[in-house]
Amino acid sequence: MINILQETQRCLRCKAPFCQKGCPISTPIPQVIDLLENDSIDAAGELLFNNNPLSIICALVCNHEQQCEGNCILNKKQVPIQFSAIENYISDTYFDKMTIPIEQQNNKKVAIIGSGPAGITISLILAKLGYNVTIFESRSELGGVLRYGIPEFRLPKSILERYHKKLLDIGVKIRLNVTIGGTLKIDDLFRDGYLSIFAGTGTWRANSLGIEGESFGHVHYAIDYLASPESFHLGDNVVIIGMGNAAMDVARTALRNGAKQVTLYARSNKISANTIEYQKAKLDGADFRFHMTPVKITDTGIIFKEDANELHVQADSIIISVSQGPKDKLTTTTEGLNSSDKGLLITDSIGNTTRPGIFAAGDVVHGAKTVVEAVNQAKLVAQSMHEYMQKI
Ligand SMILES: Cc1cc2nc3c(=O)[nH]c(=O)nc-3n(C[C@H](O)[C@H](O)[C@H](O)COP(=O)(O)OP(=O)(O)OC[C@H]3O[C@@H](n4cnc5c(N)ncnc54)[C@H](O)[C@@H]3O)c2cc1C
Repeated sequence: MINILQETQRCLRCKAPFCQKGCPISTPIPQVIDLLENDSIDAAGELLFNNNPLSIICALVCNHEQQCEGNCILNKKQVPIQFSAIENYISDTYFDKMTIPIEQQNNKKVAIIGSGPAGITISLILAKLGYNVTIFESRSELGGVLRYGIPEFRLPKSILERYHKKLLDIGVKIRLNVTIGGTLKIDDLFRDGYLSIFAGTGTWRANSLGIEGESFGHVHYAIDYLASPESFHLGDNVVIIGMGNAAMDVARTALRNGAKQVTLYARSNKISANTIEYQKAKLDGADFRFHMTPVKITDTGIIFKEDANELHVQADSIIISVSQGPKDKLTTTTEGLNSSDKGLLITDSIGNTTRPGIFAAGDVVHGAKTVVEAVNQAKLVAQSMHEYMQKI
């Protein structure tokens, strides 16, 4: 366990803090550390929350080695300041006692489609500004990838219950198990008086390999498996295709759920996951094989091409983890809402989609990225929605 007070004392208080520069959401790290040292943990928590409403979560899941901690000047000679531990301690201590000041209710209705990091961020900001916010979420629980992708051992789901409660406390209405583009469409929301609509629907359509055998019963896609690993019976020997961050989560989850042999395969010699995620998967017991191109799935395993040879690898289950793209529920049911050839919603730099009044941010705009990037973009888009609604 890191002693966070000792950590704050090690901070050199750089005049130009590289840690802050390296953070995608520019967390005011020196100020936070100063406040903590001056026994002002609530003020430190408030500063963190106002800058990044998902601070508790980012403290756990950001790629700190490449961001704040990777840019700490101490990194050159010794161990960098472990700011993620400091941030987590402050935000976690502050979150439940925090009261979010709400401006006078303005009776303007806003609909938020999707309750991932982007949707939660926009909801918190607009509710605080006095808007009447309703979230529509396809799944039975709040959180998007935070709940249905990132495993419990990396991000305890209890944090999402705390966000759920906080949103209800500030008057946000949450409709779960409702997919917009199904029974209710975006035009129904405009009909019912929502002045603007935010789409933060993420990327939930797994990419396929497009090879023979992909529809067999022992083949699964990473995002489907991670949504409810306990419902799957993978057997002892699991093959994973892909070496991105999601693939590492699949490997570590499968090993924790009883798989005896878990091997990840890549076409090239490249691991696209963050180094730390790869190291943890290796530590947990996963194996890695490179230069193996999947050719065909059989009833008992999978055939790879390795150099000029074909090799049959036995497997009880095969999990395909080669990224994902957005579903097209919103674009096919909403006139004037356009997407790119990859299915991503087209927006300008401040989140306006091609249909006035509809805004978007997060993975559905930029493709599969990170929590902190979704939050950072959502902050900007909340502001443009506010400006738009003030004018009408
Ligand atoms: C396995 C995995 C692990 C990851 N690990 C990390 C990590 O450690 N650190 C990190 O920074 N990033 C990580 N990421 C990426 C990160 O989680 C995403 O970039 C982030 O969640 C994007 O947020 P979002 O709000 O745009 O979308 P999402 O989190 O995808 O949320 C979208 C929500 O919209 C809902 N929805 C979709 N369509 C509709 C509809 N029509 N009607 C109603 N609701 C709808 C979905 O059910 C979902 O709840 C990971 C991603 C995956 C897949």
